[in-house]
Amino acid sequence: MPDVLVAGAGPTGLLTAFELERAGLDVLVLERDARPTSQSKALGLQPRSVEVLADRGLLAAIEPHVRAKLPAGHFSGLPIDYTDLPTRFPYQLGVEQAHVTAAIEARLRTPVLRDAAVTAVRQDDDGVTVTAGGREHRAGWLVAADGGHSTVRTLLDVAFPGSPARISLVVADILLAAKPAGLADAWALPAGASGYLVPLSGGRYRTIVFGEEQQRLGRGEPVTAEEVQRALTAAHGPGILVGEVLWASRFGDAARQLERYRHGRVLFAGDAAHVHLPVGGQGLNLGLQDAANLGWKLAAAVRGTAPSALIDSYHDERHPIAARVLVSTRAQAVLGVPDPDAAAVREVVTGLLAVPEARHAVALELSGIGVTYPGVSGRAQVPAAPDGRAVLLGATLPEGWSGRVEQRSGAEPRLVRPDGYVVWSGGPGLEDALHRWFGPPEAGRTASATVAGTARPAI
Ligand SMILES: Cc1cc2nc3c(=O)[nH]c(=O)nc-3n(C[C@H](O)[C@H](O)[C@H](O)COP(=O)(O)OP(=O)(O)OC[C@H]3O[C@@H](n4cnc5c(N)ncnc54)[C@H](O)[C@@H]3O)c2cc1C
Repeated sequence: MPDVLVAGAGPTGLLTAFELERAGLDVLVLERDARPTSQSKALGLQPRSVEVLADRGLLAAIEPHVRAKLPAGHFSGLPIDYTDLPTRFPYQLGVEQAHVTAAIEARLRTPVLRDAAVTAVRQDDDGVTVTAGGREHRAGWLVAADGGHSTVRTLLDVAFPGSPARISLVVADILLAAKPAGLADAWALPAGASGYLVPLSGGRYRTIVFGEEQQRLGRGEPVTAEEVQRALTAAHGPGILVGEVLWASRFGDAARQLERYRHGRVLFAGDAAHVHLPVGGQGLNLGLQDAANLGWKLAAAVRGTAPSALIDSYHDERHPIAARVLVSTRAQAVLGVPDPDAAAVREVVTGLLAVPEARHAVALELSGIGVTYPGVSGRAQVPAAPDGRAVLLGATLPEGWSGRVEQRSGAEPRLVRPDGYVVWSGGPGLEDALHRWFGPPEAGRTASATVAGTARPAI
């Protein structure tokens, strides 16, 4: 019997499985689709996600697919300079989501059971029984990372409060028969207007269009080549000719978030826990960081070493971060409305973002670099321990914690959680921090050998 079942092999589910497996747990991923999708909703990784992937040695497999390093993010299409962010990756990586998930899945030893849609969930005091693909699976815990339309959420009858979509947009991957010279030759950030167009691999282009026609058509209406053609002609003139629509979907600005991320032995993460208009490049990045935050805490709960409040700190830490993203994306949606009032607000915001301090604050938020939690004093940017332990740098580890903390040499004393956040940085309080985050010491566990510290992780 696995320790943990993960519903959904999207980026959130796969990174959660990776984190749990790294910590030595037996995991089984249950995925509805028969094959990994080659379609990518997201096209970008924010700096904090790049750090998380690099610290786990996952970036090297993604890098060959990176089409651009963009030294900026955007707020409803208004460029936000990233070049002075305090990170070794002060840029967004332009990369298709499918390459990110493929890179994580390639490193998993955990089985990903495909064609295994979750259809029933039952939990009791000792564990969770999940029916998927017609078979029953039992584990101590279930992580629901089954996306914005989460079946697990529905099966548990958990409310998903928020606001329904009021606007409708189309995303499409297309082949072009002709285009004006100079248009979409290179990867670029959206500018906030209909007709965003960037080159993808294999001669495809990604476009996002929205206008009066999209508002009129129902969400269930199939997207046709004619509809995309009309929208692109309106945006770029008659020189653009759609050859074929390879994949298309309608999406909107519904903004919803679970009130609690934990329901008994079921923990929700990624889009299953929060949805919003995909503007500013946030959703995939939120999901990856939910996974990094949840993985080590759930592993400690399974092993029975966790302080009792640790597993609930996943909700306490991550819920406010996504709540803030919902505020930010709602604001960005308002700025994108094509009417004179929204245009006036956009003009004012554009002026405010010219103030360096304001721009920097927004950059910290969009990039994820500004994310912090109570009791945390920054990010360490050191390679994660391969076995999922925390890391103590530049100090002597007291006896009893070596099963949970790897000791490394280093000039700057720091105690680093497995998700990369610093919880002690010299002076008194090391034992208090060890107790608070990793539980009491184990009797009979002596200090382990010191591992040579690495200033920078190999990516
Ligand atoms: C047009 C568009 C553009 C976007 N652009 C960006 C961007 O640039 N940057 C960004 O950060 N985010 C972006 N996003 C958002 C981002 O794609 C999502 O936030 C991200 O995919 C969430 O990952 P997830 O793993 O939580 O969910 P998903 O990617 O939805 O994965 C869920 C998985 O669960 C599986 N599943 C579903 N039901 C079941 C079931 N019953 N049983 C088992 N498995 C199931 C699905 O098949 C899927 O594999 C965009 C979204 C859209 C729509």
